[in-house]
Amino acid sequence: MRNVERETIIVTVRVRIAPSPTGNLHIGTARTAVFNWLFARHHGGQFILRIEDTDVERSRPEYTQNILEGLTWLGMSWDEGPIFQSLRLELYRQAIQTLLDKGFAYRCYTTEAELEEMRAAQVARKEAPRYDNRHRNLTPEKQAAFEAEGLRPVIRFKIEDNREIVWNDLVRGKVSWRASDLGGDMVIARASAETLGQPLYNLAVVVDDIDMRITHVIRGEDHIANTAKQILLYEAFGATVPEFAHTPLILNKAGQKLSKRDGVTSISDFKQMGYTPAGLVNYMTLLGWSSPDPTKEIFTLEEVAKEFGFERVNKAGAKFDWDKLNWVNSQYLHQMPVAELTDELIPYWQQAGYEFDPVNSRSWLEELASLIGPSLTRLQDAVEMSQVFFTETVTLNEEAASQLQQPGASDVLKAILSALESYQSLTSDDAQNIIKQVTKEKNLKKGVVMRSSRAALTGEVHGPDLIQSWLLLRARGLDRLRLQQALEHS
Ligand code: GLU
Repeated sequence: MRNVERETIIVTVRVRIAPSPTGNLHIGTARTAVFNWLFARHHGGQFILRIEDTDVERSRPEYTQNILEGLTWLGMSWDEGPIFQSLRLELYRQAIQTLLDKGFAYRCYTTEAELEEMRAAQVARKEAPRYDNRHRNLTPEKQAAFEAEGLRPVIRFKIEDNREIVWNDLVRGKVSWRASDLGGDMVIARASAETLGQPLYNLAVVVDDIDMRITHVIRGEDHIANTAKQILLYEAFGATVPEFAHTPLILNKAGQKLSKRDGVTSISDFKQMGYTPAGLVNYMTLLGWSSPDPTKEIFTLEEVAKEFGFERVNKAGAKFDWDKLNWVNSQYLHQMPVAELTDELIPYWQQAGYEFDPVNSRSWLEELASLIGPSLTRLQDAVEMSQVFFTETVTLNEEAASQLQQPGASDVLKAILSALESYQSLTSDDAQNIIKQVTKEKNLKKGVVMRSSRAALTGEVHGPDLIQSWLLLRARGLDRLRLQQALEHS
């Protein structure tokens, strides 16, 4: 086990991914998971999964399920967890009590209406909206009076305006934040029937990161302001502040943060479209990190783990590039062993409603997979590409229809049909011989014969190897049928 030296203490690297189950596993969270995983593996450390489900209204068990499945599918195996924050409320309440006891936090009874009025006045004075810390020093009498009114307090953590919070970010270098820009004393527990309220994100994260002995907090750049607040909490708890690495956001084409409005953003959608986990993870790694060897862009997670470090992570946002993702994914599909590719494709064919027996037709399916494999970008593409091999009739596209109107086309089809009569079974050599024979007999160019037979058999003039396609159709008893149907249209 390799260790990282921090100050004089040697500690084992412990990192975490902490998704909130308020939606399906997002590509941004998944990419953060990948960076955490790589960093942990690079240092022989531990990767922990924590589910941040304290927001009862927005958290859903089906999202937790989606997150766990997505991380597992991507190969982001965790060493500890999943740890659910909702089961640790007691710990957060104890921490709140400690902060209250030590005078770092206080009960605040300011009502929504008062907060609204405060905000409006600040906006009118062209000031940034913030809490004015008015209940910081309530007398016990005043507090009792609010309680008697039935007001439920929030718990606020004191933030001294004159502080500057500075840390050495592993990606961004020195980051400094003025405490006066943090919006005043921060709410760490929302008002609730519980006397210590309902613990909120910044508090729970810090309590957990301390409790789980997290050494490096690696998360999206959108959490920078939270980091400033969280450092103050670490100090109040007298705990060691971990290292921070804020990774660049994933951006859409317009350079804005990739969001649901950009369409596909959740890992389960990418999976459904037929991206392979290895291809997607490889691409996500490249979103923000660059390999020391710029010519090498296809690598396994283990290979990246050997090289991974934050000195090669960009500060600038990373644009999501579908073409690049498609290219990376196609590399994985093209090198996939045919048996594995067939296993991957079977569910897509089944979902498309194609009828076949996955056991008895196994060798036919493998031949089909090896025929279309080199043209696949995503597994989903196989549905359209293989339709002609599963369905009885085929609709001719425009080019194929016009090919079959060409002089000589119907003669070609007739001649092939008649040649086929002397074959019980058909080998690749037989099919090639038939093409040669018809070309010669009809005194046509080979291209015309090939195009016409392809048009009749597959409904298109372009596509994968003609002879292989023909044999696949023949195995389903479809070749003569197609030739006859085409003849009726030519
Ligand atoms: N629950 C937070 C999120 O999903 C985690 C942020 C963090 O890593 O601290 O954004």
